[in-house]
Amino acid sequence: MRKIPQLFGDLTLAAGMLLMLSSAPVGAQAPAVDPTAALLSELIRINTSNPPGRTQALADLLAPRFRAAGFTVEIIPTPDSAKVHFIARLKGDGSRKPILLAAHSDVVGVEREKWSMDPFAGIIRDGHVYGRGAIDFKGGLAVFAMDALRLGERKVPLSRDVIFLAEADEEGAPMNTSWLAKDHWASMDAEFALNEGGWVIKNDDGRVRYVSISTADKSVIGITLTAKGTSTHSSMPLPDNAIASLGAAIGRIAAYESPVQLTAESRQFFRTLGATSTGEESRLFRQLVDGTPAEVMAADTVISRDPLLHAIMRNTIAPVLISGGFRSNVIPGSAEATLNLRVIPGTTSESMVALITGLVNDPRITVKSVGSSGPAGAPSSVATELYQALARESKAQWPTAEVTPYLFQAGTDAYAWRSRGIPVYGIYPYPITNDELRRMHGNDERVSVEGLQQGTEMIYRTLTSVAGKPSRRVSKK
Ligand SMILES: [Zn+2]
Repeated sequence: MRKIPQLFGDLTLAAGMLLMLSSAPVGAQAPAVDPTAALLSELIRINTSNPPGRTQALADLLAPRFRAAGFTVEIIPTPDSAKVHFIARLKGDGSRKPILLAAHSDVVGVEREKWSMDPFAGIIRDGHVYGRGAIDFKGGLAVFAMDALRLGERKVPLSRDVIFLAEADEEGAPMNTSWLAKDHWASMDAEFALNEGGWVIKNDDGRVRYVSISTADKSVIGITLTAKGTSTHSSMPLPDNAIASLGAAIGRIAAYESPVQLTAESRQFFRTLGATSTGEESRLFRQLVDGTPAEVMAADTVISRDPLLHAIMRNTIAPVLISGGFRSNVIPGSAEATLNLRVIPGTTSESMVALITGLVNDPRITVKSVGSSGPAGAPSSVATELYQALARESKAQWPTAEVTPYLFQAGTDAYAWRSRGIPVYGIYPYPITNDELRRMHGNDERVSVEGLQQGTEMIYRTLTSVAGKPSRRVSKK
């Protein structure tokens, strides 16, 4: 990934946090541990790194708690040992279709030597829970589980079933929710669902700047490049060396920048950034949405220094695998590279193969699509009761924030529902800084205890509003 400065002054933030960490007295945190933070700490201690992505122990931890709160529990094994899906259902009166809370229980692995503490110890230090999955997505799993359990424990009368799903294999793939949906659709069918996705982004001063709720995900396309040449002795090189032509082709692809392509969600997202920033930054965001083509390009150049914003507004193309050759005195007859593309909804594999073929511009290289996540389904409407409740309760929880729909820059397990026409709204339901956002899938991943508390309150009110019987529903309209 490119090493470039961030737009939002993270260096000063990182320096400030170092100061805070080094000056905080040992053992100074609050004596009583917040229940969501305590649950998250427990979840982190169960190592569900994928591969192998074993989630059985996590399901075993949750099952008795959900049963005690009045849920029926299903643990669905997959053909892969100890990789299980956990589904718990709290019955409503059946007058409306269920609401579903989905959270993946597997996590990506770690580079252990780059962490400053054990990533699987669930350490709570200086007001933060540290560990793999703290943000993605055991933090969200803890918030959703805590809120679902509360509904049961408090015996809140429900007009619809509340389904809690801790999914396996989101970070892997074959046994994920799309696999689950094939034979277990009845257990996961709902009117709408909550999942991971958008962000609650806070500034350096702790003020929440915006809440983005994802209503669509980018989809994934895999493309391979296979270069052919003459295999021969390395002492007599020929001009058609497969590794050399493949390298040159990848260079041309890397030099290419996809044009800006704003979806309806992205337009609103960048308008929100414009409204919540000041000075030059604000001007650039507005220019990106409403400027002339030349102004859009100029704004893109600056805004795209932020890798997340760069990715949201275009199709991205990343070379991710390369192989060729088998010994040092042989020029191999072929070499192969794999590209990983994250594309705006509606982009076809065929169009991307045609684009790459044009960039490669070399008849010795074959360009082929090797699979895609498929059409992601229509973006989820912002007019549903669930989106409206989320937006309202986010604003109530973080009054300084602007709330906006969002195109998520990666793929999620929302596909299983969105592809069947069921709206899914994505949120990592706790305020994080841009620095913390970069720790996700990285090192020293963490989430603040205060953020977990706030997220737990916000999601609970959303649930009682959408699933509670009318007399219990919070009415603020
Ligand atoms: Zn995730």
